[in-house]
Amino acid sequence: MGLRSPEEYVASLRDGRRVMFRGAWVPDVTEHAVLRKAIDHAAIDYRLGEEAATRDLFTAQADGEPISRFYKVPESADDLLLRMRAIETATFEGRTVVTLIHEIGTDAIFALLRVAKAMDRALGTGYLPRVEALLRQARHEDWALAVAQTDSKGDRAKGPAGQVDPDQYLRIVERRPDGIVVRGAKLHTSVSVNANAMIVLPTRAMRAGEEDYAVSFWLPIASEGLKLVASPYLSGRRSPVEHPLSAEHKMVESFTWFDDVFVPWEQVFLAGEVEYAGPLALGFVDFHRFTAVSYKLPLVDLLVGSAGLLAQLNGIAGAGHVRDKLGSLAMYAATVRRLLEASALLGAMEEPGVFVPDTLTVNTAKYHFAHGFHEALRDVQDIAGGLLVTAPAWDDFTSDDIGPALRKYLQGAKGTAEERLRALYLVTDLAVSDLSGYHEVLAVHAEGSLEAEKLAATRHFDLAGKIRQARHLAGIAE
Ligand SMILES: Cc1cc2nc3c(=O)[nH]c(=O)nc-3n(C[C@H](O)[C@H](O)[C@H](O)COP(=O)(O)OP(=O)(O)OC[C@H]3O[C@@H](n4cnc5c(N)ncnc54)[C@H](O)[C@@H]3O)c2cc1C
Repeated sequence: MGLRSPEEYVASLRDGRRVMFRGAWVPDVTEHAVLRKAIDHAAIDYRLGEEAATRDLFTAQADGEPISRFYKVPESADDLLLRMRAIETATFEGRTVVTLIHEIGTDAIFALLRVAKAMDRALGTGYLPRVEALLRQARHEDWALAVAQTDSKGDRAKGPAGQVDPDQYLRIVERRPDGIVVRGAKLHTSVSVNANAMIVLPTRAMRAGEEDYAVSFWLPIASEGLKLVASPYLSGRRSPVEHPLSAEHKMVESFTWFDDVFVPWEQVFLAGEVEYAGPLALGFVDFHRFTAVSYKLPLVDLLVGSAGLLAQLNGIAGAGHVRDKLGSLAMYAATVRRLLEASALLGAMEEPGVFVPDTLTVNTAKYHFAHGFHEALRDVQDIAGGLLVTAPAWDDFTSDDIGPALRKYLQGAKGTAEERLRALYLVTDLAVSDLSGYHEVLAVHAEGSLEAEKLAATRHFDLAGKIRQARHLAGIAE
C-alpha cells in the first residue's frame, strides 16, 4: 500500500474507539458534525499526496513503494527542508491550522530511533527493532498518528514520585509476561480522536525511584480502556464568509485517559530505564519544535499580508507608523523562517541514520515566534481598526434594506466596500476570534512553554566560553 486516499483514511476511523463529546459517547466519529470537520481537515495530508501539483513534495520512496513524505526519516538538511515545505503547504491549505496527523507521530518515531539505539547499546535492551517495526507498519499503512506526552502533572513543583496522587503521571501499574498495564491521563492530546494509533512518551526526565513512570509505547486508538474526552473549543457553527479561516478547519485535542490499559511488550519502547526518559522527551522536542515552526510559517506570513492589505484598503499604507509596523511584522516573519531554515542547515547526522535539526537554533526559532506573536497580533489589530469587532454581519451587508448604506459607509481608500469587509472578516478570524485565542495559547504552550524553549536553547549555548572571553577582556586571570 504505502499511500492512503482521503476516503480510506476516513473509513479507517470507524473502529469502535471510545470518544466523548460534551458528555455523550460518540458512536462513530466520522458521523459527528464537529469531529468530522477535524477529520476532513486532517485528510488534507492525504489529498495533497494524490494531487499532481503536490504529489512530488508529499511523497517519497521506501521499501520499493511510494510513501508519505512525512514517513521519510531525514538523512540530510534537504530532507528537513522538504519536510518543512510539506508542513507549510498543508497548513496553508488548512488556512493556518496544521494537519498534524503525520507530523507529530513521525517526530516521535525519529526520537525513538535515536534513543532506542543508544539504549540497546548501553543496556542490551531490544527496543530498536520494535521502533523499526512500528515505522514499517505505520509507513506501509500510512497511519495517522497522535502523540501523548503531556501528563496531568498535579503539583508542578514536584516530580512523579512526589505527587499526593500517584496517578498524576502515567505509570505502569502491572508488569505481566506478555506486557504492561498503564494508568494515568495525558492532556491536550492533539488529533487523537482522528488518528489510527497513539505514541506515548514521558513528559520529563525521571530519577531513581520513578521507574514505573519511565514508560513509552504505542497503541491503537481503539484499545480497551483508552478513553478520549474531546475538547469542544472552536466547535460552534460559523459562516465561511465571516470566518474564512476557521469555518471549515479545526484540530481537536483530547483529555486522554488510560483507564488501566494493557500494552503488549512488542509495543513498548521504555519500561523503567529512568535515565532515558529525559533524552526521549528532549529528543522528541528537537523534531517537534521543527514541525511547530514549520506550521507557523503560513500564520506569520498571513499576519504581514493581511496587515498590508488592510493598510492599503484603509488608505494608511504611506503613514510612518504603519510602515514601521509593517516593517516589524515583515522582519518577525522573515526571522522565524530563516531561523528554521538555519536549524536544518546546521543539523547533524546521528545514529542510527537520523538527521537532527540543531537544538539551539530550532528552540530559538520557536521562542522567537512565540515571544513575538502577541505583539504581532497587536500591530495587525492596530492597522485594521475597530471594525474588527463591530463590523456588520454578512447578512446585513447583503440585505436590500441596509446593504446600500453599508456599501456607502464601509468604503475605504481602495477596492470596494465588500473587499474591505472581507479583508476585515479575515483579520477578525485571524487576530480577534476564538481561532486567534487558540493560536495564542498554542504559541505559548504547545510544543512546550516559552521557558522550556529558553532552557533547551541556553543548555546548548556556550555560556562558559562567553564568560571566559569576558574574563579575558576584563583582565581577570583564569
Ligand atoms: C493546542 C494545544 C495542543 C497540544 N497538543 C499536544 C499533543 O498533541 N501532545 C502532547 O503531549 N501535548 C500537547 N500539548 C501540550 C503542551 O505541550 C503543554 O501545554 C505544554 O507543555 C505546557 O504544559 P501545561 O499545559 O501542563 O502547562 P503547565 O506546565 O502547567 O505550565 C503553566 C506555567 O507553569 C510553568 N511551570 C510548569 N512547571 C513548572 C516548574 N516545575 N517550575 C517552574 N514553572 C513551571 C510553565 O513554564 C508555565 O509558565 C498541546 C497544548 C496545546 C495548547
